Amino acid sequence: MRIILIGPPGAGKGTQAAAVKLRFPVDHISTGDILRENVRAGSPLGLKAKEFMDSGSLVPDSLIIEMMRERLAKCPAGGFMLDGFPRTVAQAEALDELMKEMSVSIDAAILLEVPDETVVERLCGRRVCSSCGEIFHVTGKPTEADGVCDVCRGPVEQRDDDREEVIRRRLSVYHKDTAPLIEYYEKSGLLRRIDAIDKPGAVKSYLESAGL
Ligand code: AMP
Repeated sequence: MRIILIGPPGAGKGTQAAAVKLRFPVDHISTGDILRENVRAGSPLGLKAKEFMDSGSLVPDSLIIEMMRERLAKCPAGGFMLDGFPRTVAQAEALDELMKEMSVSIDAAILLEVPDETVVERLCGRRVCSSCGEIFHVTGKPTEADGVCDVCRGPVEQRDDDREEVIRRRLSVYHKDTAPLIEYYEKSGLLRRIDAIDKPGAVKSYLESAGL
């Protein structure tokens, strides 16, 4: 199974991918997580990516495509769920090339649709465990103890790019650079639209009804 998750920041791509991973032997590949690990480790890629990420801009295509070429080569046969890639038409074209080289193909591009104001509300309140990645929300899913992860007791923090001005910038980048992917995958017949406002089970139901 090879699935692409598309949607604005805060649409629930990471949450959905984690849920699907519990049921299928797929690799959940989040470009945002890989980049943040590189920033934390101070790697050459992390040093180049940090400024773009902090300002809510996209990291240049050439860096992302190279990073994904290496990552996809390590992917197990069960397939993958791509969360946050591709984010531009150039990245989608590069992914098509990579799939050809690997003699495999994408099964579906799932679009999680959420209005901008819902995104702002969700992300301003989002908190993430920097140890295990568990996601919380200050009102929707608060931690039992302040700033401590319920799952692993690690520190729960607000991401630097989850501040309102950066969220609005990320949304405008999404509409300008990433939304054209909707037409791209519609043309190839791979697009599946899912209303992701308040339906955490939506992707799961879609995959079930598609027999995946
Ligand atoms: P995310 O965790 O998916 O919201 O990504 C956080 C940030 O990482 C984004 O705002 C971008 O700066 C960068 N990023 C993640 N994926 C990509 C991508 N496919 N292309 C360019 N930049 C990306």
